[in-house]
Amino acid sequence: MYYIAHVDKDICSSKNCHLCTQYCPESNCINYSEEDKSAYVSVDRCKACEICVYICSDIAKNDAIQMKWIEDLSDGFVFKKSGLVIR
Ligand code: SF4
Ligand code: SF4
Repeated sequence: MYYIAHVDKDICSSKNCHLCTQYCPESNCINYSEEDKSAYVSVDRCKACEICVYICSDIAKNDAIQMKWIEDLSDGFVFKKSGLVIR
């Protein structure tokens, strides 16, 4: 069981916002995909501190990030170090 931040791409891509990527304390953890026009989380880097949830919900007012159990992710996840995308 592993608890991580998860970005809703449909919400994020409609906001033209990069704010969360500037506040995550882990390097190369939450990044922005120009292809998807959305932030995404590398699951092997996320420490579940929930700072990005606070930034997206309370500061940016976008509500695009939720904490989820990794096995509950419906749209796959990314291992940043290996570059492997699992869907
Ligand atoms: S703060 Fe929210 S809306 Fe902005 S880039 Fe991050 S996930 Fe997307
Ligand atoms: S929960 Fe913390 S470590 Fe994980 S992506 Fe958000 S800010 Fe980064």
